Amino acid sequence: MTTLVHTRADLAAALDAATGEIAVVMTMGALHEGHRRLMRVARERSAFVLVTIFVNPLQFGPGEDYERYPRTLDDDLAACRAEGVSVVFAPGRDDVYPDGAPSVTMHPGPLGEILEGASRPGHFAGMLTVVEKLLMLTRADVAYFGEKDYQQLALIRRMVRDLELPAEIVGVPTVREEDGLALSSRNRYLSPEERRAALALSRALREGAAQGDPEAVLAVAQKILSEEPGVRPDYLALTGADLGPAPAEGPARLLVAARVGATRLIDNVPLTLLKGA
Ligand code: AMP
Repeated sequence: MTTLVHTRADLAAALDAATGEIAVVMTMGALHEGHRRLMRVARERSAFVLVTIFVNPLQFGPGEDYERYPRTLDDDLAACRAEGVSVVFAPGRDDVYPDGAPSVTMHPGPLGEILEGASRPGHFAGMLTVVEKLLMLTRADVAYFGEKDYQQLALIRRMVRDLELPAEIVGVPTVREEDGLALSSRNRYLSPEERRAALALSRALREGAAQGDPEAVLAVAQKILSEEPGVRPDYLALTGADLGPAPAEGPARLLVAARVGATRLIDNVPLTLLKGA
């Protein structure tokens, strides 16, 4: 049975009744197979899985899609039920921010200034602030986040380490459509033509990552992006697995952000760099 709660008081009551480890999956709703994978991975380990559904105003900049972000609570609940989720916490704005916008917030540090942070000022501060609040409100022992939002995952790990938060953070690999497109709630904004163009992102990452040499990785990925006129890249970056500088060899990450029509998409893949490849 899945219990839906909206207020922090009802959430606390549901948590008081929970036994065993509390596993949490945080989402903004409009749930898809990527979110469901997180729930399934959580469920494999923990009997009690809690899903939060909250479109956090704090992490949207002016002109971004806060107002039109898809809100599909009935379908989301059905998905959570099907995955054996124990509790869904779908708070209103005032349940999360009872005093209005918080005056004390998270500072993401240098890792928050590159890539997404450079394109979306304030985004990571807003994201970390709500993640910290939800970790506390849900009393999470373990929380699951997708590698789809790789920099977000890295920052959450960092916050938990730097601030001694008592939760374990688990990353889950990106779930993709069969043709490679990374699942995203924002994919539903895409017209059929834009969806076709958007495939250039995952193709660029895949074919770039298949190269071993750093210069070839970037050149191949860049070429694929530039050949798709429907895609306006924001950045294409090759980094270390920790988002620091790319190593000469070993584990690395290739990340892309681009606009397709009015929709901003991000994606990334792991890769291994090889000396003299
Ligand atoms: P969102 O609702 O977009 O805030 O995402 C909620 C959680 O689901 C985050 O931890 C995301 O990284 C994760 N997520 C979103 N899309 C995917 C995907 N395609 N594969 C794996 N995890 C995902």
